[in-house]
Amino acid sequence: MRYISTRGQAPELDFEGVLLAGLATDGGLYVPAQWPQFSAADWRAMRGLPYAEIAFRVIKPFVGGCIPDADLRRMIDEAYATFGHKAVVPLRQIDANDWLLELFHGPTLAFKDVALQLLGRLFDWALARSGRRATIVGATSGDTGSAAIEGCRGRANLDIFILFPHGRVSDVQRRQMTTVPDANVHAIALEGTFDDAQAMVKALFNDAGFRNAAGLTAVNSINWARVMAQIVYYVTASLSLGGPERAPAFCVPSGNFGDIFAGYCAARMGLPIAKLIVATNRNDILARFFETGEYRKDGVNPTISPSMDIQVASNFERLLFDMHGRDAAQVRKLMGELDSAGGFTVSANALAETKRLFAAGRADEKTTKAMLKTAFAASNGQLVDPHTAVGLAVAAEQRTKAGLPPDTPLVTLATADAAKFPAAVEEATGQHPALPPRMADLFERPERQTVLPNDVAGVRAFIESRRVKA
Ligand SMILES: *Cc1c(COP(=O)(O)O)cnc(C)c1O
Repeated sequence: MRYISTRGQAPELDFEGVLLAGLATDGGLYVPAQWPQFSAADWRAMRGLPYAEIAFRVIKPFVGGCIPDADLRRMIDEAYATFGHKAVVPLRQIDANDWLLELFHGPTLAFKDVALQLLGRLFDWALARSGRRATIVGATSGDTGSAAIEGCRGRANLDIFILFPHGRVSDVQRRQMTTVPDANVHAIALEGTFDDAQAMVKALFNDAGFRNAAGLTAVNSINWARVMAQIVYYVTASLSLGGPERAPAFCVPSGNFGDIFAGYCAARMGLPIAKLIVATNRNDILARFFETGEYRKDGVNPTISPSMDIQVASNFERLLFDMHGRDAAQVRKLMGELDSAGGFTVSANALAETKRLFAAGRADEKTTKAMLKTAFAASNGQLVDPHTAVGLAVAAEQRTKAGLPPDTPLVTLATADAAKFPAAVEEATGQHPALPPRMADLFERPERQTVLPNDVAGVRAFIESRRVKA
């Protein structure tokens, strides 16, 4: 399998190349040169198989011979053995034709574990093969940092440094980063805001000498391997609900468009999907796009679903590329307008074509809180998290608005455990969401973190002193 850049001016790479590269050198995102095709018989043959076996079959064509089958299978088995549910991503029925796909049974209780548990292992494998080490550096406002740490802890060929704003992440989020004992994990509490932490990471990457010497790498959401790993649960959910003979719809709480783009990939691979519904909070650049065809930046408003508080959706460029017949020149032009003028508009044709598969909606804070309550009342005491509540609210509205036949199974992706956002959940429902038993001692585990001033030279020196030299 070859990978091409959405901007058409970066070298074509194989899977190992895109895994380690992340962003393409022309500023674009890597996508597969062709979509692997699965027939109805191929899908049927996966029915009833364990999650890891389906993952292996779905992922194998994307890896395209770069990784020996036995190694790939072992990494997949290990990645999903860390999940606290035998089904890995169980489906829970919540109404006659409505379902929740629980993606939060991984080590950090949010869906990012599905991708990052595999990504850390793939990275380590690729580094070992080329005899290299890497230093992963990232900034987090909460969720991604802990999932990246869990995916990379104890890996032989990498060190991971995660910066978070000191005193500005929740206790659960901080402890998920600071209680991991592995020596290659470094949690840095930066004296500043999340924006300061992000600017710090940017400054470190812009220091070419340091970047090359330390082998700096990011594991952000534009990495193709993260999207790839997420395709699998669209397949398992569909097969459980009668696919490929029946086509379910999916409603996806969205921020950077990585999760729902994986659903699009599944559709392009031949999986019957009735509709992909983008659910946003009040940071609604995506919902506005699907209504008007205009993609325009706006400020970021903080919400109780913080992992969806984004200004632009970094993976959207991948859809834009396909929407324009894979014309990289067109993508360069539109992304240039986004930079220079803050937005762009696609043609009515391109929008209409895209809306055959996609629909979108938004939920404001009031609607989200009301849904937290409604979902709790309707479920025999099962709480959902605020991101999932955004999804449920939009799903309820779009079942009719998007014209889904009433017997279409509608699956809302449950992207986090309620226990990850206890303050918002308790405020809306009066119920305190308990941590799952395997994490019940989180508040007793010893913490290890380094508080550093917001100073590039100091942070760089800290990383230099702690990373293991090859
Ligand atoms: C990251 C995240 C999202 C958004 O996913 P994208 O792939 O960025 O669209 C939604 N919910 C939770 C809990 C998340 O952590």
